[in-house]
Amino acid sequence: MADLNYNILKAKGVGTRWAQLLSEELDVHTYEDMLQQYPYKYVDRSHIYAVREITSDMAYVQLHGSFISMNVVGEGSHRRLSAVFTDGSGAIEIVWFKGLDYVRNSVKLSQEYYLFGKPSVFGNRLNIVHPELEKGDATISNAGTLQAMYNTSERMKKAGLNSKSVQKIILNILSELQSSPIPETLPQYLIDRCHLMSRDEALRTMHMPKNMQTVETARYRLKFEELFYIQLKMLRTYNQKREQQAGYQFSTSGAFLSDFYKNHLPFEPTNAQKRVVREIYNDMHSGKQMNRLLQGDVGSGKTMVALMAMLIAKGNGYQSCMMAPTEILATQHYESLSKMLDGMPVRVELLTGSTKQKERRVIHADLLSGDVDILVGTHALVEDTVQFARLGLAVVDEQHRFGVAQRAKLWSKGAIPPHILVMTATPIPRTLAMTVYGDLDVSVIDELPPGRKSVVTEHRFHNARNSLNRFIRQQLEKGRQVYEVFPLIEESERSDFKNLTNGYEYVKSAFPDYKVCMVHGRLKPEEKDAAMKQFVDNEAQIMVATTVIEVGVNVPNASVMVIESAERFGLSQLHQLRGRVGRGADQSYCILMTDYKLSTDTRRRMEIMVETTNGFEIAEADLRMRGPGSIEGTQQSGLPFNLRVANLASDGQIVQYTRDIASEILKNDPQLASAEDAIMLQRLNYLEKSVLNWSLIS
Ligand code: ADP
Ligand code: MG
Repeated sequence: MADLNYNILKAKGVGTRWAQLLSEELDVHTYEDMLQQYPYKYVDRSHIYAVREITSDMAYVQLHGSFISMNVVGEGSHRRLSAVFTDGSGAIEIVWFKGLDYVRNSVKLSQEYYLFGKPSVFGNRLNIVHPELEKGDATISNAGTLQAMYNTSERMKKAGLNSKSVQKIILNILSELQSSPIPETLPQYLIDRCHLMSRDEALRTMHMPKNMQTVETARYRLKFEELFYIQLKMLRTYNQKREQQAGYQFSTSGAFLSDFYKNHLPFEPTNAQKRVVREIYNDMHSGKQMNRLLQGDVGSGKTMVALMAMLIAKGNGYQSCMMAPTEILATQHYESLSKMLDGMPVRVELLTGSTKQKERRVIHADLLSGDVDILVGTHALVEDTVQFARLGLAVVDEQHRFGVAQRAKLWSKGAIPPHILVMTATPIPRTLAMTVYGDLDVSVIDELPPGRKSVVTEHRFHNARNSLNRFIRQQLEKGRQVYEVFPLIEESERSDFKNLTNGYEYVKSAFPDYKVCMVHGRLKPEEKDAAMKQFVDNEAQIMVATTVIEVGVNVPNASVMVIESAERFGLSQLHQLRGRVGRGADQSYCILMTDYKLSTDTRRRMEIMVETTNGFEIAEADLRMRGPGSIEGTQQSGLPFNLRVANLASDGQIVQYTRDIASEILKNDPQLASAEDAIMLQRLNYLEKSVLNWSLIS
């Protein structure tokens, strides 16, 4: 009896070449993988048109009739096969540009065919190019049904593995499995309770639907299953961490926090900051390890929250560390923490790649003796030589820049792991956060400090260059600084690099009386830092840069962000870039420069940027427009299991529903130990094994 785990090579019609293509192009190795290649659409073939009814504006038509002539015509690149097809009501030209010999040898005149294709106009005559053909007596006939259409790649098509061939393979597998229903993956009580289709019926329906209603029911079942297992996995990990991972218990918020609060506050914390500090304290007070994600838009004041958390650690006799993705950022953190702590007996040190050997040794020793309270640094901080006496809290800023391995290293620095606070300025919509970061607790700073002026954003075309320059000059004359960002998505793209350097030369010549610096990914770290420093110190007034400046740099005096070729950036990235300005008291501006010709999508992106500065609104829009892969930070941390039919952007309700159900199941049976729940444990094991690049925030 056939089995879902059978190698795809066993399937009828699949030889070694196709098997290899399926594996390389679609990641299909087994029968089950193949059955999970869901159609991207269905074409209604229940209607047969008469030739005389055809008009050029019809999407697809199906005809029934036969060929009355077939000839090779034209020369060179115009060489084609031209045939005449008729059903008695009229005749239409059918054209092939490729595979002429194959068609001529296999298609017979006077044999009846179902012909399926898209009418087009050439000259002023209707024709159909490269139609699908099926003999009247074909074994797999799509005529009269909803025909499933499958995604294939160019390579596959070249090897004859087109949508129709994929369909054939799938139908062969389904008929091989006819006598043994496809095993269920959800417990029966869930199927009953949530009114789900069985897995067997759902899979068969997806590939051989009777009508679109049943497709919807089948699709819902499969989406449910995908999202349910992701939630189950996330919640189990979350529960395991919470219940099994002991953490340091900070019994009090401590004298240092209250001293800071009473005597050293640089400004009144926003309500959101206060709330988040309470959430953090509750975690650290609980006796379990904290694993919290702090989300807050750029400029929302995450640094002070981190500081207060670190002061709680200090008040309980523990050290803290704070990691930043770049040296510049680490240095800025170090400086702002030192400033806020001025006059308090708390020792902060900075450790980066450029810390001198001598200082480094001192810091290492003082960390080990417990003399250093807070260590700020780059990833150099997780080097093995760095040992803490009592590391109680690790703060990770802009977490998506860190690899999982680096976080894990941090984690293993003590026998009892420190509390972990990861901070990100990338707003993640709720349903996505629930899924991608489902094993973390999430805090949100949803309020900006008072008095912030939102960044005025405008969209301009390239021909507005002169007025842009006049505007920039006005700002420079007021003593402000300016960013000008060029796309260099792939740092290796030569043409992009040329645009950047041309842009740099242009800006220099347009503003000869100001100093311009340039920062990009091809510079050595020291060179990059040196150029950044020029700008930070206002020695340079204009910075021409690529997106390397995206993360965290704080230059409050910069008030203009010009984004060149803005059409090439995604929404999240545009928003991050814009966040570099608007950090001081002055009105700031973001100018999106684009080409005239824009796709509807791009135009929409520009409109959204102009309409709102709310990071969450932008993230939601981005998620809707481009799908979850677009949200920065989600690629790296990834989903535990692949989604094939569910969509995090449009299936938010199912995400929430399956999360509620998974959480209820785990509440009643945390180990999934009961007989009826065992099926879920099996499925989880299976899914875990079949995902190789599974990674999760630690
Ligand atoms: P981010 O969340 O982007 O890391 P920062 O912590 O760098 O934001 O804060 C941005 C700016 O806002 C800093 O200059 C900081 O001093 C200031 N700031 C933070 N919290 C407040 C507050 N409650 N009131 C006024 N200014 C604040
Ligand atoms: Mg920050």
